[in-house]
Amino acid sequence: AIPVIAIDGPTASGKGTVAQRVAQTLGFHYLDSGALYRIVGLACLRSHVDFSDMAAVTAHAIAIAPRFVCGRVLLGDEDISKEIRTEEVGTAASLAAQIPSVRDALFELQRRERKQPGLVADGRDMGSVIFPDACLKVFLTASVETRARRRYKQLIEKGIDVKLDTLVSEMAERDRRDMQRMHAPLVPAEGAKILDSSCLTIQETVVKILHWYDQ
Ligand code: C5P
Repeated sequence: AIPVIAIDGPTASGKGTVAQRVAQTLGFHYLDSGALYRIVGLACLRSHVDFSDMAAVTAHAIAIAPRFVCGRVLLGDEDISKEIRTEEVGTAASLAAQIPSVRDALFELQRRERKQPGLVADGRDMGSVIFPDACLKVFLTASVETRARRRYKQLIEKGIDVKLDTLVSEMAERDRRDMQRMHAPLVPAEGAKILDSSCLTIQETVVKILHWYDQ
C-alpha cells in the first residue's frame, strides 16, 4: 500500500509547517485538508450563506471538488492563498466542518491525494476517518499560549493585522467546536502517537516524526 503519514491536531500546533517539511524530506506529496474547509468557509462568507443552512453550505463543498488539483485549490482563476489564512475564514471553516454532508463531500477528494511514493496528510481527522490505515499517525499539540504566539507571528509576517487577545479567544472557541462536534471530532486517532511541541523547535519535531517513520 502507498504509505500515509497522518498528522492531526488543534489549530496552530505547527502541523502545517511540520507536515510540509516531513513531506519534503521524504519526497512525499502533501495534503493540507484544512485548506479545503477554508475554501468552503470563504465561499460561504462571500455568498452570504447562513451556516445553519446545511444544504447551501454542502453545495459549496461539492462545487469546490473539481477545482482541487494536485494539492492546490483554485477559486476560479483567483489566488486566494492569503485570504483563506485569516481567522475569520478559519472560523467559517470550522462552522462548515461541523456539517456531516460537507465532510462527506470532501472525503473522496482527500483520499485521491494518496499517490506514489507516499503522502503526508495534515488535518483533524486524517488518522481517524480519511486514512485509518496510515502507517504512522501523529497527534501534534502544544499549549494554547504557545499556539497563539505562533499563529500571531505567522499572521503578522503575512501582513494580516490581528490582536493577540482576540486571537487567543477565537482559537479557543474554534478548538472547542472542533473537539465537541458530533461528526469526526478532533481527538487522537486509535494508535496515534501524541507529540507536544510546546518545548520543541520545528526541526526537532520533524526529526522526531521521521524517526518514528523509520522504525
Ligand atoms: O487546519 P486549519 O486551521 O486550516 O483548519 C480550519 C478548520 O477546518 C478547522 O478549525 C476545522 O474545523 C476544519 N478541519 C476539519 N477537518 C480537517 C481539517 C480542517 O474539520 N481535516
